[in-house]
Amino acid sequence: SGVLATLPRLKFIQSLWMGVNDLLLDETFPRHVPLSRLVDPGMVAAMGETVLAHVLDLHRDLYRYRDQQIRREWHKFPQRRAQECRVGILGLGVLGTDAAKKLRALGFQVAGWSRRLKTIEGVDGYTGAEGLKSLLSETNILVCLLPLTDSTTGIINKALIAELPRGASVVNLSRGAHIVEQDLLDALDGGHLSRAVLDVFNVEPLAPSHPFWVHPRITVTPHVAAVTDPVTSLPKVVENIERVCSGRQPRDLVNIESGY
Ligand code: NAP
Repeated sequence: SGVLATLPRLKFIQSLWMGVNDLLLDETFPRHVPLSRLVDPGMVAAMGETVLAHVLDLHRDLYRYRDQQIRREWHKFPQRRAQECRVGILGLGVLGTDAAKKLRALGFQVAGWSRRLKTIEGVDGYTGAEGLKSLLSETNILVCLLPLTDSTTGIINKALIAELPRGASVVNLSRGAHIVEQDLLDALDGGHLSRAVLDVFNVEPLAPSHPFWVHPRITVTPHVAAVTDPVTSLPKVVENIERVCSGRQPRDLVNIESGY
């Protein structure tokens, strides 16, 4: 941190990530310089696949079958239809919208929460605190794709989890600080939540002593839900630099006040 503030003639900053929360944490960040985040089509595609993979894994009970296999148990769980499973997505931005459409295509019931109301065919849109409560009350699988800002830090806490029906699962693919870790562990141990899939953590890499590693109902992946793809992102970076050099506005500008 502090590096950007030492560049007085800086005209434009292109993030090489979709989330810019780390950049904005730097108190010396030059807030007057336009900042674009990376909206990389390869990354969007990868995140869509990751969401589908985890939702299908949960919906088709594949985790439970893996547990059974370890114990050499042969037991069939009831088969549910995708239409009976409701996926609630926190954040209906570039990533949330893409995931919502792909889940709809597979027949899942999909609801999404955003600051401004979004209209996506077949997807129930919600906003505000009351909207969030309504979404949560009917969600079986909660997927977090929010940016990390002052208003979303710690959003997945005891109170939010309590609004989910018993047996729901949480999939966090955005930033670790969205989750209050102890509240998540308590809800899993108390049986209110059945499973958590976590790709992102407060401190990365996750410390070897962290309880998430060995929890029987937590899946840990090392922040790989979607990584920047040089092949698909480079043209976007080049285009933005060309736009700035020719006096046009760069694409995917971050609203510094909102933090995303
Ligand atoms: P985006 O396009 O900026 O969308 C953000 C969405 O969140 C928007 O729908 C926005 O609402 C909503 N939102 C923001 N603050 C809110 C609030 N206080 N209440 C309700 N809704 C709120 O972001 P994106 O490109 O989809 O990316 C989302 C995040 O994913 C990134 O910030 C990054 O942290 C994370 N990410 C993780 C990985 C990984 O590998 N794990 C990879 C890429 C990105 P509006 O539509 O009303 O603005």
